Amino acid sequence: MITPAFSGSLFVVAAPSGAGKSTLVNALLAQEPGIQLSISTTTRQPRPGEQDGVHYHFTTAEDFVARADRGEFLEWAEVHGNFYGTSRASVEEKMKSGTDILLEIDWQGARQVKKQFPDAAGIFILPPSIEALEERLHKRGTDEPHIITRRLLAAGGEIAHAPEFEYAIINEEFNVALSELRAIVQATRCRFAQQAARNASLFAQLGIHVIQPT
Ligand code: 5GP
Repeated sequence: MITPAFSGSLFVVAAPSGAGKSTLVNALLAQEPGIQLSISTTTRQPRPGEQDGVHYHFTTAEDFVARADRGEFLEWAEVHGNFYGTSRASVEEKMKSGTDILLEIDWQGARQVKKQFPDAAGIFILPPSIEALEERLHKRGTDEPHIITRRLLAAGGEIAHAPEFEYAIINEEFNVALSELRAIVQATRCRFAQQAARNASLFAQLGIHVIQPT
């Protein structure tokens, strides 16, 4: 058995817009203080109420591209006409110190993360029906109608990649979906390799020998 290089676990959560991903993730974070949400960098304009450094790090396309060229992003993608990326340094630093990190990213980013962190737990949130998805997108009312239409079309594209994830959660009953999400988090934390990385001295004391990654 090989222990991972980082003692923190990595969770990747994806969903089409309107599946209720952010509400679920925020509820999870409130109940599981050991997990931190990675704050992405984006070139999209802030929505009303969004703060720089809290919801996203907002930047220009020029700055984003320069940082992508320097390899500063663990993953990045163009989504709905804007760039979004995850800071490599910030994620790796926290995972090294044992903090679990959750990435709320799209399927393109999830694919890039999985290549670098095969142990990352990929979770896809599905709406209970296509009608529910449309209704939630309209009710949200934070974007112009043409943006909603674009997101609905994109939702189909995102859902097409759901089979690339290990876990699927159907967000029909919020509390059921939340408890399923927590169960996945807890099971991931109990993976043998993860436990060995977090509890190296206990494992050594018990004579459990694990191979350190090179
Ligand atoms: P929104 O603009 O609604 O906040 O996000 C739009 C989409 O971009 C969502 O599907 C969200 O998961 C995705 N996204 C947000 N941050 C990142 C990121 O850092 N990387 C990637 N690949 N996608 C992201």
